[in-house]
Amino acid sequence: MTEFAARVEGVSISGIREVFEAAGEDAINLGLGQPDFPTPAHAREAATEAINEGLADGYTGNKGIESLREAIAEKYARDQGVAVDPNDVIATAGGSEALHLAIEAHVDPGEEVIFPDPGFVSYDALTRLADGVPKPVELREDLTLDPATVEAAITDDTAAFVVNSPSNPTGAVASEDDIREFARIADEHDVVCISDEVYERIVFDGEHHSPMEYAETDSVVTVGACSKTYSMTGWRLGWVQASNRRIERMLRVHQYMQACASAPAQFAAEAALTGPQDRVDEMAAAFEERRDVLLDGLEDAGLDVPTPKGAFYAMPKVPEGWVDEVIDSGVVVVPGDAFGVRGEGYARISYATGMEELKEAIEIMQDATRRVD
Ligand code: PLP
Repeated sequence: MTEFAARVEGVSISGIREVFEAAGEDAINLGLGQPDFPTPAHAREAATEAINEGLADGYTGNKGIESLREAIAEKYARDQGVAVDPNDVIATAGGSEALHLAIEAHVDPGEEVIFPDPGFVSYDALTRLADGVPKPVELREDLTLDPATVEAAITDDTAAFVVNSPSNPTGAVASEDDIREFARIADEHDVVCISDEVYERIVFDGEHHSPMEYAETDSVVTVGACSKTYSMTGWRLGWVQASNRRIERMLRVHQYMQACASAPAQFAAEAALTGPQDRVDEMAAAFEERRDVLLDGLEDAGLDVPTPKGAFYAMPKVPEGWVDEVIDSGVVVVPGDAFGVRGEGYARISYATGMEELKEAIEIMQDATRRVD
């Protein structure tokens, strides 16, 4: 008998945390994956009201309150033009739990999950925790995921592939043609496409598209969250949407793991989704302005950086020693290899921080680049 499960021993604590711990207290933090805006007041108030009226004291249904699931279904009808049955949605503890349910319900031991490298840290870890086999695939030069690469990586043992647009850590947004291809690949190969769309509303160039718009079978599982769109990372509220038979399997995991998502957070999420959306647009506009300033600053420093089209991250190619030099100079950025082996030689810079701080950080990064070049 071993003391700890091999599954757990195979997963380590995210490298991102180490960077925070290495930086001084006064450092400017460009490492964070959360917006620096408050949660909209109407969402906070809806939670407070639900609490004060005693509506949030008990468990909700396992899938979540019906009015929230209706709001999520309406969102897909409005934004993606897809009719979704509210019964085919589970409210989850953030996008994180939704990803967990999707992988846990579809991946048998030894089966492969294909995902972008560099990519969000959870895909590799959740695959390992399901005793699956992580299969990271390389991105194009512009840091987008090529459907042809995904298709070529599929074997008889592949259970699923993950698409993440807009992307963490690259800020890349998949083209509509690529999204259409991902849906075709999932349909034709009978492999599940897990579409992680937690940054769906933060798109600067082009439009957000979802494989759910194009799939002809029930091959797509869609993950969403209030975390980034409504600046609600602390509320822990996301969701997963799929066909009824897939939702039924994911519910078995959710029921025993979570019972239901936090009730106050469900009321807040419903208000966020159905209330005024101007704060979302304002936030996206602020991110776009910062993106432009950051891009100019990095390009002036001679760094090569694919233009991020969404989310709030940029991923420049950086010279050896750059990340350490920048961190030692008081700016926290995350080394690209925290997001997979192919992230080596890159850094992830989050611009979910105020403009003044961002400008100060850009000067520090420019000086650091001169020193290591
Ligand atoms: N997916 C991606 C791509 C993310 O970047 C994150 C969080 O950083 C998540 C999912 C998880 O989001 P949540 O905070 O809703 O669990």
